[in-house]
Amino acid sequence: MNGTVSSSRRPTANSPVRKARRVPMPRVWPVRAGDIYAILGGNALLILGMWIRHGNMHELATPAGVFTAVGEISALYGTYLVLIQLILMSRNPWLDQVFGQDRITAAHRWVGFSAIWLLVTHAVFTTVGYSMTVSSSPVGELLTLLTSYPYVLWSGVSLVLFVAVAVSSVRAARRRVSYETWYAIHLYTYVAIALGFLHQLFVGIDFTTDVVARVYWIGLYAVAIGVLVYFRFGQPISISLRHRMRVANVVTEAPGVVSIYLAGQELDELPVRAGQWFRLRFMTRDGWYKAHPFSISAAPNGRYLRFTVKGLGDYTSKLQRVAVGTSVFVEGPYGAFTGAARTKARILLVAGGIGITPLRALLEELPASKGNITLIYRASRPEEVVFRDEIEQLAALRGAAVHFLVGKRGSADMPSDPLDPRALRRLVPDVAERDIYVCGPAGMLERTLRGLRWLRIPDAQIHYERFAF
Ligand SMILES: Cc1cc2nc3c(=O)[nH]c(=O)nc-3n(C[C@H](O)[C@H](O)[C@H](O)COP(=O)(O)OP(=O)(O)OC[C@H]3O[C@@H](n4cnc5c(N)ncnc54)[C@H](O)[C@@H]3O)c2cc1C
Repeated sequence: MNGTVSSSRRPTANSPVRKARRVPMPRVWPVRAGDIYAILGGNALLILGMWIRHGNMHELATPAGVFTAVGEISALYGTYLVLIQLILMSRNPWLDQVFGQDRITAAHRWVGFSAIWLLVTHAVFTTVGYSMTVSSSPVGELLTLLTSYPYVLWSGVSLVLFVAVAVSSVRAARRRVSYETWYAIHLYTYVAIALGFLHQLFVGIDFTTDVVARVYWIGLYAVAIGVLVYFRFGQPISISLRHRMRVANVVTEAPGVVSIYLAGQELDELPVRAGQWFRLRFMTRDGWYKAHPFSISAAPNGRYLRFTVKGLGDYTSKLQRVAVGTSVFVEGPYGAFTGAARTKARILLVAGGIGITPLRALLEELPASKGNITLIYRASRPEEVVFRDEIEQLAALRGAAVHFLVGKRGSADMPSDPLDPRALRRLVPDVAERDIYVCGPAGMLERTLRGLRWLRIPDAQIHYERFAF
């Protein structure tokens, strides 16, 4: 099927509030958190077993040996964490499904810093251990290691790159650099991994003499790199080639906010759900090398995907003027902020500003019966409310209740926070009996989540999407 969208200012024949055609649901992966922890724990034990099997326990008999042993173990586990990090960076849908983006981001941070601390420990303890064994100075030993052991100089450069990536990710530094700079520095992680690999095989005590250990170690690298390449490159290339998406229409929704309609081939066979998001790469001369995440703002309908973008920075401001016909390379869909996360029949959707996009799509797709859906839409100013007509039409069609809470917090009209937990309970008395989906600016999101926890709503009922990593 060749999807097309009317070129009128607002598509009418394809109006987003018309009944959506069903598209395939994203695959549900038969993976549970316990399986993943068992695989990770099993490999961690295998690594320790490998180190013991190589007779390294005897090193613990002398102080120099203890340093060397700590150096070896920290190298093994530091590298293991780096490989786990590759899988966390792979944007694969089963991790998304099991843990959700927020926990993956938190794990990415924790695993990354731990890996680098372990690799620094490896360098320091190995150097000191060797220097104690041959009674030389640590600095002299370091020079010997760097200049006369195979590929150790490469691994030294690798460690410097890893540390640079870690420094750029420390919160204080992260706040000072742009997303693009931070991301570019992160790409050095791949160079660091490549540079560090060979010295493990040629110098690592566990691999120089044991073919089985070598094969196992190379196998771990192959799995991690395979998962990364498949999900980061293989799948997006295959989806983009198959669906050949292009901009079919650009519609102004509010000042500084446009909806971009993407049409393409066989969109009725693209598995995606309301609440999910894609990374979009607009193939223009100055845009093809940047990919930014955007949620679909209408339920998938097999004819087009709609994204609604607020111009907040350089990229999103330029997108306001994207030309119809521009080809778009898509990665995704990603995210577990969907109807699949529901645990209750009744639902509360809480949107702030442009955070309405995934909730607008959910309002259209979630099963509606007997007024089970309530939407609260918070904005500081009336012109920040997008989709007001569409939302009212959808709410009427689906029997949903909608509350637009518009006004500046602390102003005469809105002296207190309308999303404060008591106010929320007054507005939606059965809030504790609902699944709650929240998306909005960071401050509003955090306050709302705190409020929901104050109301003792179980975590399983609270679902949220952050618009920043
Ligand atoms: C899952 C998700 C869904 C989103 N959905 C929407 C949506 O439906 N509508 C909408 O208007 N906005 C959405 N956003 C936000 C949107 O992606 C950012 O506003 C946009 O990338 C900012 O780019 P900029 O260059 O215009 O602004 P900048 O001022 O350069 O960036 C502002 C902030 O956006 C984030 N950011 C910037 N570039 C990227 C990037 N390449 N990848 C990831 N984050 C980046 C960073 O946190 C940065 O600090 C979403 C974000 C996420 C994470």
